[in-house]
Amino acid sequence: MSRVSFNRKRVKLKQLLGIRARLALLALILVAPLMLERARSLEDARTKQIEAAAAEFSSLARHSADTEREVISSVETVLKSAAYIRATSGGIAKSCDLLRASLPSNLPWIRNILMVGGDGRVQCSTSNTSVGVDLSDRAYLRDARATRNFIFSDFLFARQSHVPVVMAAYPVAAINSESDAVVLAAVNIDWMSKVISNLGGRPGVSAVLVDGNGVVVAAPSDQTHLVGKSLDDLPLLSAIAEPALTSNQEEGSLSFVAADGSKRAISFARIAGTSARLIVSNDEGQATSAIDRNIRTAYLQLGFVSLFVLLGALIAAEKLIIQPIEILVGTARRFGQGDWSARATRDRLPSEFVPLARAFNAMAAKLSQRERELLATNDRLTVMASIDMLSGLANRRGFQSRLEYEWMKAQQYGSDLSLLMIDVDHFKLYNDTYGHPEGDACLTRLGETLSAIAAENLGFAGRYGGEEFCLLLPNTDADSAREVGETVRAAVQDLNLPHRTSLHQCVTVSVGVASTRPNDSQRPGDLIEAADAALYAAKHRGRNTVLEHGFMLAAERANGIAMAG
Ligand code: GH3
Ligand code: MG
Ligand code: MG
Repeated sequence: MSRVSFNRKRVKLKQLLGIRARLALLALILVAPLMLERARSLEDARTKQIEAAAAEFSSLARHSADTEREVISSVETVLKSAAYIRATSGGIAKSCDLLRASLPSNLPWIRNILMVGGDGRVQCSTSNTSVGVDLSDRAYLRDARATRNFIFSDFLFARQSHVPVVMAAYPVAAINSESDAVVLAAVNIDWMSKVISNLGGRPGVSAVLVDGNGVVVAAPSDQTHLVGKSLDDLPLLSAIAEPALTSNQEEGSLSFVAADGSKRAISFARIAGTSARLIVSNDEGQATSAIDRNIRTAYLQLGFVSLFVLLGALIAAEKLIIQPIEILVGTARRFGQGDWSARATRDRLPSEFVPLARAFNAMAAKLSQRERELLATNDRLTVMASIDMLSGLANRRGFQSRLEYEWMKAQQYGSDLSLLMIDVDHFKLYNDTYGHPEGDACLTRLGETLSAIAAENLGFAGRYGGEEFCLLLPNTDADSAREVGETVRAAVQDLNLPHRTSLHQCVTVSVGVASTRPNDSQRPGDLIEAADAALYAAKHRGRNTVLEHGFMLAAERANGIAMAG
């Protein structure tokens, strides 16, 4: 990437990340670690809870399996005692009596004890039933004879009563090898179910004791409907039938997803000495549903907290930064538009902005003072540009603008306006005689005289050019103007400035008078021309003369200005 395009991208990013976005980002950066930490600790708690639940169920399974084993052990002990009786007491009748007399009454899980002869028929029963029944085809009987050991059968139905039972078998041959009799115990399945009832009543938990074929032998009281069913037929357990039954381990655990989509953890334990297994299945989802709810609530809370933090950051940015900046910008804009009184109000600004506002106000005060000074200087320059330095009167420019102003005013009020054009007689000769500096001094004296007369008559005097002066007389008609003209002429003569090449031996002036009442058909220039014409005529009259131009008369006559004659 070239340096230029990188810089361009940086600028774009800067524009995108305005101050609001930056503060929001900052707030998120501050909140995010808290959010993540909280989420992490909840997830940790969840994992621990699952582990704890798994451990609890595993230990429950083991404990229950141990209890089942104790039950079976007690059956084994009883059978061994019975086998001993059968081996040592001689005939079956005696053995049977002895057995009935010695059978412990505190073993409710033993339904019945039977003695079977070599032909597989029941010779004796503690409950006096089943005698003569042929059990020779029962696998447990065959297995007991073959192994000469204690055998715990799979789930089966009693031959006569057809109630579900589990049979335990012990061959008398284990004590007396010549005997072919076998002692049997019908184990009460209901009671075996009771033993594992501590695993019931828990939501999401299934617990079953299965035989070697995977048929449920016992289940907690709330799940007794499972007894007699094959694991393969149980929707939540069918998936684990295979691994749980084929595992060689004494106990173990595994997890799988059941047909209903729930994630289940399985703990199984083999009942020692038998092919039966206790299987506890636990729905992880149900076990962790409370903490899942907590996690959802926590995420929701965190979302709200983040939202509030963001909103807070935006409001704070708006109040503490954007608004003050906008106030300062507004003030600067007003100031830039020429409102020199614009000042930043410090009360509405946060304290951090007060020094900036103070500096801005100081700068504004300084600038407005400079502006005032500049305007005053400009005014002075304008005045200077309109003043003739030699005579101290207005110069031609100053006179022109005053004439336009007075013309407008007179036109507005319908008043008279008169103009005197005053020219020094034979001034060339004066210069020639006394020199130019003396000529200047003379012009200065004449300026002073004219200024005094203007002040007396509320008029405005100016130097029109060279040795020619003018006197504007607002609200003055032709007669009065002529009188002022005469005053001027006389005042100059009375100055008695020596002029030896002049007929009068002193400096004199000629005065041309013009008067009008301004209207739309005339222009200020017309008044000047008329006064000039009158002056020209006065010169012809022999100088040191005041002559009025018939301005109004001529204007009426020819709508123009006639020469004075
Ligand atoms: P007239 O009576 O016809 O007005 O004769 P004049 O000599 O006054 O008129 P003219 O126009 O022939 O000469 C004007 C003279 O005024 C010429 C010039 O040297 C002189 N003058 C004009 N301005 C100044 C000035 O500022 N200072 C001085 N010393 N002389 C000036
Ligand atoms: Mg002259
Ligand atoms: Mg002249």
